[in-house]
Amino acid sequence: MSLLRYILGVLGTLVYIILYFVFGGIVIASFYNATLRYVLGSIILFFIVVALIIKTSSDRRLRAARDEYDEIQKKHLYDAQEHCPHRLFALSQKDIGVIIMTDKWCKVCGKYLGPATLKRSIFGNKWE
Ligand SMILES: [Zn+2]
Repeated sequence: MSLLRYILGVLGTLVYIILYFVFGGIVIASFYNATLRYVLGSIILFFIVVALIIKTSSDRRLRAARDEYDEIQKKHLYDAQEHCPHRLFALSQKDIGVIIMTDKWCKVCGKYLGPATLKRSIFGNKWE
């Protein structure tokens, strides 16, 4: 299992290097070729659009969670935090001597949710 993960890691790095050279090649070639300038422009535009879509959807999710928490606050005046579903969380890190602790906080109500754990998988690492 760990060998498979290692091979996937190496393959992932190789793909990055290849993409880097392909992109670099297009950048250099675009100085001499008008068509490649358009290709380069559309690649950059594509990444900007993707980044904007990701940002807009995460903004929308945060706004929806805040609206939901507003309703919870109206219903539970004194213990709203207890009823918050804590759907979105933020991470913070602090040093304790040599180890680094990662803590989880609710992005909506600000409640401390305990230490976060890094879940490793072959598709990438994810904080939970
Ligand atoms: Zn919460």
